[in-house]
Amino acid sequence: MKIIQKYTTANPCFYGDGYITPKGLMLHSVGCPQPDGSVWANAFNADIGACVHAFIDANNGTIYQTLPWNHRGWHGGGSSNDTHIGVEMGESQYISYTYGATFTCSNIAAAKQQAATAYNAAVELFAYLCKQYKLDPMTQICSHAEGCKKGIASNHADPEHYWNQLKTGYTMDGFRKDVKAKMGAVTVTQTPTTQANNTNTTNTMLVRVRIPDLNIRSGAGTNYQSKGFIPPSIYTIVETKKAGGYTWGKLKSGAGWIALEYTEPAGRGTRA
Ligand SMILES: [Zn+2]
Repeated sequence: MKIIQKYTTANPCFYGDGYITPKGLMLHSVGCPQPDGSVWANAFNADIGACVHAFIDANNGTIYQTLPWNHRGWHGGGSSNDTHIGVEMGESQYISYTYGATFTCSNIAAAKQQAATAYNAAVELFAYLCKQYKLDPMTQICSHAEGCKKGIASNHADPEHYWNQLKTGYTMDGFRKDVKAKMGAVTVTQTPTTQANNTNTTNTMLVRVRIPDLNIRSGAGTNYQSKGFIPPSIYTIVETKKAGGYTWGKLKSGAGWIALEYTEPAGRGTRA
C-alpha cells in the first residue's frame, strides 16, 4: 500500500475544524468520472465546502492522503464528520452520469478493472486504519449510503451505486470481511511529497496570524484572560478546541490559545 501525503492546506477544513478520535471509517466513491487521485487532491485544495481524508487512485491504487487522519473532515454531511475518517475512491473515465447516481459506461471491462484496483487499495487502507485506531471492521466500517440509513450522513448512494451498476459483485458486507481478512498482513509505504501543499505533519499545523491585535488567551474561550497580543507571524498549533463560536488553537510555545478565525494556513512547503 502506497500512501502519498498531499495535504489540502488551502481548504479551510484543514486547519479550522478541530480533531476527531476516529470511531469509524466511511467509504465513498467520488460520483464523477475521474480516476486520478492526485487530480482529486488538487481539486480539494481550495475552499470548496467539502474535505476528505484520502482519495484512492483507481488506475494504480495509490492513496493520496489529504487530511491527517485525526482532523475532522467534511465528507459525510452529518454527525459522521465528528467520528469517521472519510475515504473516496476514484471512478472510471469511461462512465457518464445521466441523472442522479445513474450512469452509462463505454468500456465495462476497463471500468471494472479500475473498480477492482480502487477496491483492493481501500481494503488495505481500511485494514491499516482499523489496526491503527483499534476499530472492528465488522461493526465500525460503513459506506456513505449506509451512513445515511443510520442517520449519520447525507442522502448519497455511494459507493454501492457504482459497484452495482458495473456489476462488480462487491458489497459492503464483503468489503468488511475482506478488510478483516487483510488485517495482520498490511504493509505501508509512506511517501510524503515535496509538493507545495504538503505539510508532512499529523498532529500540528502552521498558521499565519492575519491581524495585528489578536489576543493570546490563557484558555480556549473569550472568557479566559488575555495575556497580550500575538505579533502577526507564523505559529505552530498543537491542539484545537471549539468554544463560544470560535475554533481555538493552542500555541506550541505554551503561551496560550488564539482564535483560528483570524489566521490562515501557512503549511506550504514547511515542516512543523
Ligand atoms: Zn460519499
